[in-house]
Amino acid sequence: MMIDSSRHDVGASRVGAAKKGLCNVVMENLAEYLKHYFGYDAFRPGQQAIIETSLQNRDALVIMPTGGGKSLCFQLPALLKPGVTLVVSPLISLMQDQVDALNDQGIAATYLNSSLPMGEVIVRERLLLERKIKLLYISPERLMQDRFQAFLRHVYDTVGLDSLVVDEAHCVSDWGHDFRPEYRQLSEMRSHFPKLPVMALTATATERVREDILTQLRLREPFIHVASFNRPNLYYEVRQKQRGVYNELRQFLIQHQDESGIIYCFSRKRVNELTEKLQKDGFLALPYHAGLDDHTRASNQTQFLRDDVQIIVATIAFGMGINKSNVRFVIHYDLPKTLEHYYQESGRAGRDGEPSQCILYFSYGDISSVEWMIDQKPDSNERQIAKRQLQEVIDYAEGMDCRRTIQLRYFGEHFAGNCGNCDRCQNPEPLEDWTVEAQKFLSCVARCEERFGMAHIIQVLRGAKSKRVKQYRHDELSTHGIGKDISVDQWRTLGRSLLTQGFMTASDDMYRTLSLNPRSWQIFRKEIEFKLPLSKKVERVLSETASQARQDGEELFQKLRALRKSLADARSLPPYMVFADSTLRLMAQQQPQTLDDFLNISGVGQRKRDEYGAAFTELIREHCQRVAEHQASERNHQAPKVGTTHGETLRLFQQGLSLEAIAQERELKVQTVVNHLADLIENGENVDVSALVSATEQAVIEGAIATVGAKSLKVIREHLQEAYSYDQIRLARAKWQTQQSVTE
Ligand code: ADP
Ligand code: ZN
Repeated sequence: MMIDSSRHDVGASRVGAAKKGLCNVVMENLAEYLKHYFGYDAFRPGQQAIIETSLQNRDALVIMPTGGGKSLCFQLPALLKPGVTLVVSPLISLMQDQVDALNDQGIAATYLNSSLPMGEVIVRERLLLERKIKLLYISPERLMQDRFQAFLRHVYDTVGLDSLVVDEAHCVSDWGHDFRPEYRQLSEMRSHFPKLPVMALTATATERVREDILTQLRLREPFIHVASFNRPNLYYEVRQKQRGVYNELRQFLIQHQDESGIIYCFSRKRVNELTEKLQKDGFLALPYHAGLDDHTRASNQTQFLRDDVQIIVATIAFGMGINKSNVRFVIHYDLPKTLEHYYQESGRAGRDGEPSQCILYFSYGDISSVEWMIDQKPDSNERQIAKRQLQEVIDYAEGMDCRRTIQLRYFGEHFAGNCGNCDRCQNPEPLEDWTVEAQKFLSCVARCEERFGMAHIIQVLRGAKSKRVKQYRHDELSTHGIGKDISVDQWRTLGRSLLTQGFMTASDDMYRTLSLNPRSWQIFRKEIEFKLPLSKKVERVLSETASQARQDGEELFQKLRALRKSLADARSLPPYMVFADSTLRLMAQQQPQTLDDFLNISGVGQRKRDEYGAAFTELIREHCQRVAEHQASERNHQAPKVGTTHGETLRLFQQGLSLEAIAQERELKVQTVVNHLADLIENGENVDVSALVSATEQAVIEGAIATVGAKSLKVIREHLQEAYSYDQIRLARAKWQTQQSVTE
């Protein structure tokens, strides 16, 4: 079919009857217009109904996931209507992209925003009055300016205005993640142009945001389209974030070379650190966060969009307006803020519908950092909301259900489960019967008179003789020590499952005090079996192997250091000039046994391989052989391995226990615990103490060290006018020290 596009592009008639006639013709041929203007053969789910609604000049609220095809829902009607369609968009870059894409397709669109010089604005305004523009993209600020409103009135009276489109409409809601106060003013458009239909579009699905959009934009009996939020092409996985996580990430990236991906981190500092590490390891990675200047940010984004770099490491500042369709993976290296954030951020993968991966790294240490941040919020209401949101993220990560089912449930969508494309569905753990343990847990809650939280109950179950346990004489309870054979992690998983499955209740406040409820009795009476996809054995074996591996690594590291020293001495060099500590660490982790593998270690170049490779690989080979022999004899003896005292502290710390709780559990002084952590840091262990010493505090303390030296904690503390505790200074100094050895 030949389409005379000029018929629609020009000649605006605002007479109702003529419009109706046009409307019928158009409706019958929508599919052909779709092909003509956009080249597509069929509408995506929902598009046609929305477009029809728009052609009938009815208000609409369109909720579709990223990549669902929202733009077409207002672009096609705009081409078919006689006048101009206004599109409000929050970001300049978004406007430019969309307008460029449309112009590319031969569609008359333009934009107005603060980035344009006045002369250009005048040119574009003239084009509008000459009926040469069908779609005008505009920022909310510009739209509401008095001068522009006067101009708009003129357009309305001459060329005709057909529709107001509000893209990224969740920006009107402070419940959403991108609140823009300017968006609130858009409701005035309703008073200025009462007849102008409004279409609001967003990918944000929560009920609250939806309600906000409806009321803030004063939509009138809108047609509401909510698409399914399922993104079948995305694979979801949650991984435990353990020591060696960086190495795991490296492996992943090596396996996905030449693919684009985003790695989200919690803070700017973490973004910078990870980017630097990746760059050192030879990956094409760039950072993105609000602390970078505009130019760098834009340039990094462009390089990513153009596939000049493979990886962008970002805070949540990176996201809206990223229309890159071939993002193959999104990794959350730290915990996302809310499940909604997670959905949006991970959803930036696979917009093109191709298989893509979304991986979330999860650790108890991260939870306690987030909790600490939440506790700093002054408003108790905000704290409550933030805690609930954090709990939802935890429930997702720990949940035993299909990941998709949990996510979609969050958006109020029922999904049958068994998606076949998430870690839970692909490797379901066999269910084991944990009823007896659940009874132990619940009876311990009862014995503690329903006045304590999870951490305390677990302490009692595991027979801890901490101060707090003794203070309440809980070491005299019959349940004291009846769960020594179950690890803290396992008890915690069990406790959380009891909560999520409704067999126990937690108070809504920050203490999350546990109590029984009527369903608890179903477990006491054995009316149901309490099953968990959690193995009673595997975990302990695993953690033993993990601590074993850690010890081996440490032992090897020490050997490597000694070798470095002797080689350095022989050449009258300082050891760090032979290899940096960080390079030795990598050798200890990756244990390269050939010269080729050795060259792959970050910090080893050709020359160093030739000079030192033989000596180091020989030592590593010997070590590996010895370990293998040792393990073989070990298997016959089965001597239980006990972790070092530092290792035990680290384990508890990474489980999210506070310093005081660790001190109680281990019956040590808090100061000793701090010393353990500091020692671990100095030994290159990756201990995240940002919850104890913030980035700013770290910088301040380092500043003091630069002035008064690192020797005496007391001197540093006095220099800082005692504003910092000894503990903080001790930890900050340890961190500072590791950086010295790396930059040496
Ligand atoms: P959203 O704004 O909802 O995130 P877009 O409007 O950018 O998504 O659309 C995502 C991709 O899908 C774009 O490349 C777009 O051209 C394409 N698309 C939209 N509608 C269709 C359709 N009916 N058939 C095929 N591709 C489509
Ligand atoms: Zn699944």
